[in-house]
Amino acid sequence: RPFGYAVVGLGSYATRQIMPNFKNCDHARLVALVSGTPEKLDRYGAEYNIPKTHRYSYANFERIRDNPDIDAVYIILPNSMHAEYTIRAARAGKHVMCEKPMAVSAAECEAMIAACKRAGTKLMIGYRSRFEPYNQLAIELARGAHVGRTRLITAEHGFNAQPNQWRLDRRMSGGGSLMDIGIYSLNAARYLTGEEPIEVSAVEATDRSDPRFRTVEDRISFLLRFPSGIEANCVSSYSSGHNGYRVVSADGWIDLEPATSYEGQTMRIRKDGVTMPRVLPAPRRNQFAAQLDHLPECVRAGKEPIVSGEEGLADLRVIEAIYRSARERRHVSLSA
Ligand code: NAD
Repeated sequence: RPFGYAVVGLGSYATRQIMPNFKNCDHARLVALVSGTPEKLDRYGAEYNIPKTHRYSYANFERIRDNPDIDAVYIILPNSMHAEYTIRAARAGKHVMCEKPMAVSAAECEAMIAACKRAGTKLMIGYRSRFEPYNQLAIELARGAHVGRTRLITAEHGFNAQPNQWRLDRRMSGGGSLMDIGIYSLNAARYLTGEEPIEVSAVEATDRSDPRFRTVEDRISFLLRFPSGIEANCVSSYSSGHNGYRVVSADGWIDLEPATSYEGQTMRIRKDGVTMPRVLPAPRRNQFAAQLDHLPECVRAGKEPIVSGEEGLADLRVIEAIYRSARERRHVSLSA
């Protein structure tokens, strides 16, 4: 029997990217929907052939416990709701896929990990880039010193945020561009090195007269220092469009731009004085389907997801240190 997911929250990412990709999965299928809006349950229930018995509201969410078709929930709600719904799902005995950022604080991440551990359910974070073929190749090449030992990583992620949305309300988002998009720069720096940063320094630039940025930051630039001596110089922005990273050695580089978008990745490599303008990974599956299939593969094999709750927690710990560094205008050390 294919592994059944209940999607929780029928917003933009759920309905435009995730739900349409179940058809590309080998092991996963969409079996239930959770939403506070009855019209959305009707509309998407009809579109995806989800019977009324498998449609839930936030109020009767706990009833998923009694539905044996649901193996896992996929939480695609505003960030401040991730912890609550992960913990409620674990208590209902279900595995959890939770969107990034895992939660709005490291303390919440720890509570989510503990709840899933207690329930004996798996917890995976929706870091789809780890299942995207160009990023997988970049990891292999960077960690294998294909263009020489990595000295520096530059990573930039940003977009021009539309006004009037939960992302710009700190109570719902937990923070600004760093929580939403800058996290891709941070996560890439961690997966390209395979190391955890030991020190961060950050500078914030936010125009507080812009009505979008009353409670959250716009741009935040941060430097991560890794144990091997690699540094990552990262940009996060809600007012300028960036999506790319570059892994730089003494005399070569690997460049991916866009790097973590839904599609369109382009890789260039400079090595031995020659620039290769279009490097292609071996054809692999689309990132969304591969991500959705990973959780059932882990459940069946009794393995931890490569992007477990610990991975989401690691990012939140660094995010908290970045905010502290910017606020206190000093380097902040991170110890293991
Ligand atoms: P969205 O605003 O489009 O959807 C959020 C959904 O939550 C909506 O359907 C909304 O009705 C529902 N919701 C329930 N209670 C709510 C409340 N109290 N306030 C506001 N909305 C409420 O947002 P989105 O872009 O789909 O993002 C949802 C999550 O997915 C976020 O955590 C985001 O970071 C993540 N996301 C991940 C990716 C990715 O590429 N991995 C891309 C986009 C979003």
